[in-house]
Amino acid sequence: METLEEVIKAQIRATGPIDVGQFMALALGHPTFGYYMTRDPLGARGDFTTAPEISQMFGEMVTVCVVEAWIRAGKPDVHLVELGPGRGTLMADMLRACKNAPDFYERAKIHLVETSPVLREAQKKALGNYKPVWHDSVDTLPTDAPLLIVANEFFDALPVRQGVMTKKGWRERVIGLEGDKLSFGVAAQPPAFAKTTGGKAGDILEYSPMREAVMKALATRLQKQGGLMVAIDYGHDVPDAMGDTFQAVRKHGYCPPLENIGDADLTSHVDFAKLAQIARDKGCTVLGPVTQKAFLEAMGIGIRLNRLIENDAKNETMRAGMERLTAEGGMGTLFRVMAVTGNVSFCSFQPAGFQIPS
Ligand code: SAH
Repeated sequence: METLEEVIKAQIRATGPIDVGQFMALALGHPTFGYYMTRDPLGARGDFTTAPEISQMFGEMVTVCVVEAWIRAGKPDVHLVELGPGRGTLMADMLRACKNAPDFYERAKIHLVETSPVLREAQKKALGNYKPVWHDSVDTLPTDAPLLIVANEFFDALPVRQGVMTKKGWRERVIGLEGDKLSFGVAAQPPAFAKTTGGKAGDILEYSPMREAVMKALATRLQKQGGLMVAIDYGHDVPDAMGDTFQAVRKHGYCPPLENIGDADLTSHVDFAKLAQIARDKGCTVLGPVTQKAFLEAMGIGIRLNRLIENDAKNETMRAGMERLTAEGGMGTLFRVMAVTGNVSFCSFQPAGFQIPS
């Protein structure tokens, strides 16, 4: 078969409609044709641009948060982990900024959780000197020391499923065939979430067993071995918020999600309320989410910019990057930052920067 669309259609013809999560998993992760398996999607010539690709100051501010908490925790041995590191830019900026934190290099081992062979190559170029260890999933992360985990635009790339309210109650939203064309439909069975009330006909409620499973696994680890996770993503923190946020992006613009399959990025908004609830249920402390703007400003992005400009007037060009990352109504407020810490007696990470209401 020549294209991913044909592969998916053949599967639907053989075994029936698939849920939105199965569609997303195939479109992004199919071993031969999946979006992330075949390309580096980032940057001006790609499909979308992420915060670390906009400015080095993003990684510097994440470093201030994570490494400052590590210093106050007494500089323990740790594993510094990034989930979905893209080109490795955030980790490279963090490790460069860590030069100012004595002992960090000696105490931290670097781990990258990445499924894309193309992006692993890019990460090797950016980070090879630091001898990182790659993982296919969070399950193989080491258990012998606290984890310092960072994740920017990782959770949004994990498959999401949708329930749709019908006259008969909530049903799983699926993708099937109308003639030869892929189209959204409604399955006979209810979705795998417990909510039975609320919603009017046509309402959509998103849920993501995969994101929830990753959060559960990480929260369990943080409670056992100690550590801190800082996750940044676009999303909301309203429990059970309704709405269809499943979207496709190609060449920096939106496109219909059932077109350009394997050639467009698919994401949906992250339900921070749900992730926070899972982490709390495991015994972790959750801080935030706060807006990206509030977080970056609390970490001192303005002071950092001024310092960079004092050192070299040419760095004035970096102001545009800061403005984009902190823009009201743009990245500054669409993106949120949430921290999760393990409540263990032997090692406590208390990140600053989450006191400001979002
Ligand atoms: N964090 C980077 C890249 C974000 S794009 C940045 O901010 O620039 C999403 C990243 O998650 C990519 O590196 C992609 O390959 C990776 N990814 C997507 N699904 C994944 C999965 N199931 N497991 C691990 N990594 C995944």
